[in-house]
Amino acid sequence: MAILNILHYPDERLRRRAQPVERVDARIRKLADDMLETMYDAPGIGLAAVQVGALDRVVVIDVSEDKSDPLVLVNPEILHREGEIKMEEGCLSVPSIYESVTRAQRVRVRALDLDGAPFELEAEDLLAVCIQHEIDHLDGKLFVDYLSELKRQRVRKKMEKLRRKTL
Ligand code: ZN
Repeated sequence: MAILNILHYPDERLRRRAQPVERVDARIRKLADDMLETMYDAPGIGLAAVQVGALDRVVVIDVSEDKSDPLVLVNPEILHREGEIKMEEGCLSVPSIYESVTRAQRVRVRALDLDGAPFELEAEDLLAVCIQHEIDHLDGKLFVDYLSELKRQRVRKKMEKLRRKTL
């Protein structure tokens, strides 16, 4: 396994769309393993392939307290959304920024597992929010896109300042 480099907003590569995985093979399994290790190391509760510069529709998630419940979704698709929930979100690609976003409270998702087998999952609250956030990444979308123009500009400025400091 390896720790991958996470792209930071406003890097334009975060705007790329990931392509469907045609075959869940050794390369995809290695990517998912590396993404899990990278997510745990960060630490975070979700990571999408686009964030590490890979254009495959793969996300990894673990919302458990003790990092004991890794979930890998290949080609995830939301089949159904229900309700509304407003939660404060953060993102490994937008470090130190936390803002409230409204999303569906409950989702039904279809995906492939690492054996290439299809499965469906019902999720609510934090897990549902996390799944929606990560699938957005696969379409080049970030949680800051849900904020007002003014707030987004503030985030952008803060990120640029942070970057200057770390260079
Ligand atoms: Zn994110």
